[in-house]
Amino acid sequence: MTVMSHLFYQSRQPRPTLDYGKGIYLYDTDGKRYIDGSSGAMVSNIGHSNPRVLDAMKAQMDKATFGYRLHFQTEPSERLAAKTAALMPKGLDRVFFVSGGSEAVESAIKMARQYALTQGQDSRWKVISRHPSYHGSTLGALALTGYDPLTKPFAPMMREMPKIAAPTCYLDTDNLDDDQRGLKYAEMLREEIIAQGPESVLAFIMEPVGGASTGALVAPDSYYARIREICDEFGILLIYDEVMTGAGRTGKFIAAEHWGITPDIIALSKGFAAGYAPLGAMVARGDMVEAVLDAGGFLHGYTYAGNPLACAAGCAVLDEIASQDLVGNSAAMGDLLKARLTGLMDRFPFIGDVRGLGLLLAFELVSDRKTMAPLPKELNAYNRLVDLAYERGLIIYSRRTRGGLEGDHFLVAPPLIVTEAQIDEIMATLTDSLEAMAREMNLPVNP
Ligand code: PMP
Repeated sequence: MTVMSHLFYQSRQPRPTLDYGKGIYLYDTDGKRYIDGSSGAMVSNIGHSNPRVLDAMKAQMDKATFGYRLHFQTEPSERLAAKTAALMPKGLDRVFFVSGGSEAVESAIKMARQYALTQGQDSRWKVISRHPSYHGSTLGALALTGYDPLTKPFAPMMREMPKIAAPTCYLDTDNLDDDQRGLKYAEMLREEIIAQGPESVLAFIMEPVGGASTGALVAPDSYYARIREICDEFGILLIYDEVMTGAGRTGKFIAAEHWGITPDIIALSKGFAAGYAPLGAMVARGDMVEAVLDAGGFLHGYTYAGNPLACAAGCAVLDEIASQDLVGNSAAMGDLLKARLTGLMDRFPFIGDVRGLGLLLAFELVSDRKTMAPLPKELNAYNRLVDLAYERGLIIYSRRTRGGLEGDHFLVAPPLIVTEAQIDEIMATLTDSLEAMAREMNLPVNP
């Protein structure tokens, strides 16, 4: 009898059993080697089995693995809070630890609401988000998620939240330039705030570079500044969900740095402890936290918050990112990998778009590059290419969703320690997989 011990109740198909990881590679118990081309789900930013992180965790394990937050502060959590605050934009200096991305988003929403209450703004509760977007699996974060297959079944159990279109400029056919397109999408926020009634709107949440739902979607520069202005105009808090983009993934420590934006709250997880421990953080403006403390404190918390072992891992991960300049490597290797992925468009006319920042990169498959019409759903390309790559020892991450339509996109996001030689390896396997898919599906390939 098979015991379904693995966590994925999404499929009965068993997966290979993971044995160990080393650097950018993972090995299963049959000895097969995989390139972790998506860092799991954009998590393993510093690669696997980093000895300095493991040593730091072992040292902490010998001291204490748990101390309840209402009884003790712990040295690792204090140290990690200080390290994290030092990496945030000025003013965002209060760090609240959680165990993952959904919890970080939940914490951000509740912090925003409690802060509004301290300002006498009881009428503000709506959190506007984008469609498509992904903000987490818990019911609060799911209500902000614009990803119909995941949200629809639970709709009656969630408080519906307003959504505006994500800036999917690459699908637009108007004659606007980039700057104007960015402003066009930002104005949608202004219109939605007015339609909802500004006094009812608490916050706007966005992934600065879209992740799982949009495939490394970057807006034109004009978008970011205008969104900040609109939030300020109406006194609405701006939350950056940097769960995927944080910790160096896009070639800056947080993606907000690309545009010099200071959000009011930032959600972090994934690369923050890089898979060494379940950890996330909600970082908020100091004056907001002070106001909430004055009013009696934050009515929120998780038992495992600030876990010393997780925080010791987080400290060691941030030290690795700094000492190896992994943010710089993410920017440099990201440029290289993006150029190489763009190069694939010559050979494979069914690649419609290549996009992203740093090592959060994606390509999208289409049946016609001019119209950007997606491949027929029956081809199941988003699953098939992932399987073909997996057979060949390369892990990439895919979804079939894009602005209102369906489209097959693939995230290529190796650990930030990736080298040029390893990018060659990724590209060789990816090219081979694309060729195999083209043969199977009768898609055109240029010589
Ligand atoms: N926000 C974003 C932007 C994410 O990409 C994710 C995870 N894919 C989450 C939130 C939720 O994180 P978790 O799965 O750790 O709860």
